[in-house]
Amino acid sequence: MTASHRHAPAPVSDALQHAERLCAARGVRLTPLRRRVLELVQSRAEAVKAYDLLAQLSTEDHTAKPPTVYRALDFLLEQGLVHRVDSLNAYVGCNHPDTPHAAHLLLCTRCGRVEELHSDAVDAAIAQAVAATGFVARHARLEVHGLCARCAEAP
Ligand SMILES: [Zn+2]
Ligand SMILES: [Zn+2]
Repeated sequence: MTASHRHAPAPVSDALQHAERLCAARGVRLTPLRRRVLELVQSRAEAVKAYDLLAQLSTEDHTAKPPTVYRALDFLLEQGLVHRVDSLNAYVGCNHPDTPHAAHLLLCTRCGRVEELHSDAVDAAIAQAVAATGFVARHARLEVHGLCARCAEAP
C-alpha cells in the first residue's frame, strides 16, 4: 500500500474528539493542557516547534512552563497523536492515531506542509537493505524535503 495523507482537511474538532475517544479507550488522561497542545498542533498543516507552542500557551495561561509543554508533547507522541519531525525539531498532528505506525514524512520547503507517506514497499526495502549490513534496526523513518503537489504545480 502506498498512500499519502494530508494533515489539513480533517477538522481540528474531529481530531480532538477522536483523540478523546482513543485516550478514554486506552485508559489514559487527555488533560486540558495535553488537549490544548494537540489542538494547536492539529490546527496547522505545517510542523510546529515547541517554543511556538510555549509562546502561544503563555499568552493564555502563564503557568505553562517548558517542562509542562514537553511532557504534554511526550504524552501525545507516546499515544501516536503527533509525530516528531526530527530534521525540523518540530511536531505534526497525526490523523489516524488508532494503529501505531512509523510514517515517513514529506516536508514541503515552500509552504511548510507536512504529509505522511505510508509505503510497505519502502519499509520492506529499508528493512532488507539494513539487514544485509548486519545492523539491527529499531526504527527507520524517512523525512523527504521538497515541494508538495500544490507548490510543485504553482508557477
Ligand atoms: Zn501518522
Ligand atoms: Zn507546499
